[in-house]
Amino acid sequence: MVKMPFSCGECHLVLKDGVDQCPRCPSAPVSSDWTGYVIIVNPERSEIAKRLQVDKPGRYALKVNIR
Ligand SMILES: [Zn+2]
Repeated sequence: MVKMPFSCGECHLVLKDGVDQCPRCPSAPVSSDWTGYVIIVNPERSEIAKRLQVDKPGRYALKVNIR
């Protein structure tokens, strides 16, 4: 069984294995309950990046469910 990494509830960043705190928004809640994996390379040219309000390249979750 593959363990889902955490994703930040604020910026949707998918965190590295074993990391449970977003380096960009340390006070934001994280969740392993998320769907839609996207890799954003050029945020300024990406519609998804605009929708997620992402301004840095990286791996993101489309939807993060915070309990
Ligand atoms: Zn974050």
